[in-house]
Amino acid sequence: MSDSTPSPARALPLQATPPAHMPLVLIIEDEEPIRRFLRATLQANHYRVKEAGTARDGALLAVTTYPDVILLDLGLPDGDGLNVTRAIRKESRTPIVVLSARGQESDKVAALDAGADDYLTKPFGVGELLARLRVAMRHANASNDRGAVGSVDVPPYECTADGRTLRIDIAARLVFVTDLTTGPESPGRREIRLTPMEFKLLAFMVKHAGKVLTHQMILKEVWGPQHASDVQYLRVYAGELRKKLEADPAQPRFIVTEPGVGYRLAEGTPGSGVASPGT
Ligand code: CA
Repeated sequence: MSDSTPSPARALPLQATPPAHMPLVLIIEDEEPIRRFLRATLQANHYRVKEAGTARDGALLAVTTYPDVILLDLGLPDGDGLNVTRAIRKESRTPIVVLSARGQESDKVAALDAGADDYLTKPFGVGELLARLRVAMRHANASNDRGAVGSVDVPPYECTADGRTLRIDIAARLVFVTDLTTGPESPGRREIRLTPMEFKLLAFMVKHAGKVLTHQMILKEVWGPQHASDVQYLRVYAGELRKKLEADPAQPRFIVTEPGVGYRLAEGTPGSGVASPGT
């Protein structure tokens, strides 16, 4: 296993003992080259790694090794990632980021509906992989800190993109947009009025900001289980929200479409929501 030549010129922190809180990633993936890439990338970025090549081993390690996050391939030799997701969800709330090939759109959606938290489409870049892992773990920590899932005690959400800041305070039912490009004299902050259904939809997205929400998840939660397949409702309301919130509704930066899957509210600007819990 010593196929990597040490390269002191790169000044890798080889001397550093992994601190106990280095997050543990469980990789469930049968293709050895991908697993090797993931292992090397994660270790170089200060993660600890456990690996499984089959659905059976993966489901077992998921509940016995207490990983902080799980990277789960959907196509495994002895079963699909869907069943692994369901099996893990019976035992644990550890965030699951699904790895899927293009053309596995319906599997990907089904995995999210079964309880996976996010997905990466192969091939993916290192930056995206690391970002998705950070987001998944941040969500897990946030919901642990907050206690009950679905609590109304959601900190204010704030996100800036394309010269516009969106601020949403669910508890106070207030939504503001501030255009930063309108000059220092007029900060351009205005309150946005939403219909009750628009607010309900937005509040659900804020609770899961940064996370992919499938059409079915959103419809079940916001409209009720009987509307789980009424995707056109959702399209109409997402379109209305974009008209009200986005600087350019045709190029949305806050309410982002995940093609064939659903929507993702852009991850809030770090720290901004937590900075003023009293508002
Ligand atoms: Ca595979």
